[in-house]
Amino acid sequence: MKRLGEFTKPTILFVDMNSFFASCEQQVNFYLRDRPIAVCVYTGKQGCVIAPSIEAKQLGIKLGMRLDEAVKICPELIPVETNSRRYREFHVAIINVLRQFTPDVLPKSIDEAVVDLTHCQLMYQDVWEVALRIKSDIRTKVGDYLNCSIGIAPNAFLAKLASDIQKPDGLVMITPETIDDVLTNLKLTDLPGIGDRMAKRLEDQGILTPLNLRYASPERLRAVCKSIIGWHWHLRLNFGGEVDLETSAYKSMQAMRTLSKSQRQSAEQLDELLQSLCLTLERRMVRQDVFCQVVTFDCRYHNGRNYSDEVKLPEPKQDSMELYHLIRQRFERFQEINRCEPILNQSIRSMSVSVNRFMPAQLVSFSLFEDNTRKNRLRKALYEVKDRFGNDKLMRATELRDNSIYRDVIGFGSIKDLHDDQNPF
Ligand SMILES: [Mg+2]
Repeated sequence: MKRLGEFTKPTILFVDMNSFFASCEQQVNFYLRDRPIAVCVYTGKQGCVIAPSIEAKQLGIKLGMRLDEAVKICPELIPVETNSRRYREFHVAIINVLRQFTPDVLPKSIDEAVVDLTHCQLMYQDVWEVALRIKSDIRTKVGDYLNCSIGIAPNAFLAKLASDIQKPDGLVMITPETIDDVLTNLKLTDLPGIGDRMAKRLEDQGILTPLNLRYASPERLRAVCKSIIGWHWHLRLNFGGEVDLETSAYKSMQAMRTLSKSQRQSAEQLDELLQSLCLTLERRMVRQDVFCQVVTFDCRYHNGRNYSDEVKLPEPKQDSMELYHLIRQRFERFQEINRCEPILNQSIRSMSVSVNRFMPAQLVSFSLFEDNTRKNRLRKALYEVKDRFGNDKLMRATELRDNSIYRDVIGFGSIKDLHDDQNPF
């Protein structure tokens, strides 16, 4: 086996804000500082605690508790109604601070980000020092009440794991020398990405602890996981390189199709093809848990000409029918203004839709576009059902087409999506 050892330098930082929503509230309201507070979706008796402050956690208040239960445990608890716009503003300010250290910053959720210093090693000799500066810059430039835990490791997975170890205001580094000591104290389900089902599968095969997982041979892990996922676990825990930070791979996603003569014949088929390209992108975005902010539509024709249109979206989108209608509206307007023949016509050689400038879904739901959240949850649930029961068990009306073009396109990118599903973040 090839020796793994080239990826042992701790250059990845995982920054996790502590009790983020509650700390934002305590940041802007002095009275709330040093007190047990609970951020709730609404503050009636049945309200649900979505973010207890550090002080409230220490008194036993947990995420998901009902407010009346919580007050029984901690009568001095102060309920505060959630304010998503405020959290988003703090998020943006924090990401801007991180970007002053390197452009390679990847927000993972509203309160987490990966800072990749791999390409700045000459600039920063001491990553521990960088982490301390990040902590102090967040306090001085964003808010003095905002603390974070930072994990440092040679890959994003171990950095996230390290950030979980010490809270609040933690700083932990995982290196080849310290990893065994860290893993000894953990259960399998403490590893991000290992749920109860995966833990059971590993345990059934005699892999009972994170240390067992680290020292199992890659061949055995591959057999146990029945896929390349086993190999990924081997790489994560043995410093075999990065498997969780495919930032460049997701700077844009494209769905493209070259058309045969028969496929070009009817306007209806061309229209269906456009819908299915949008649907392919929707599926990939749902799996990646991202929304796009730019969409591009390209048609190439047999006479060598092409039509290309890029749209910056006023709000992030994921829904295929919304993308489809937008693209259609744009080219119909183009046809009207230029009095030209239809964009979707018989001389089309290929058609492609691409999306980019992604935003994590979690940020979108905390942004200003809240009336979309129900629809977004529904879309996610739909794909979860598909994953469990197979693609054909649940379809929307747009997908119910007895059409082979459509089915072809759905198969696109399936290998990539397979890996994406196992991303532990
Ligand atoms: Mg956090």
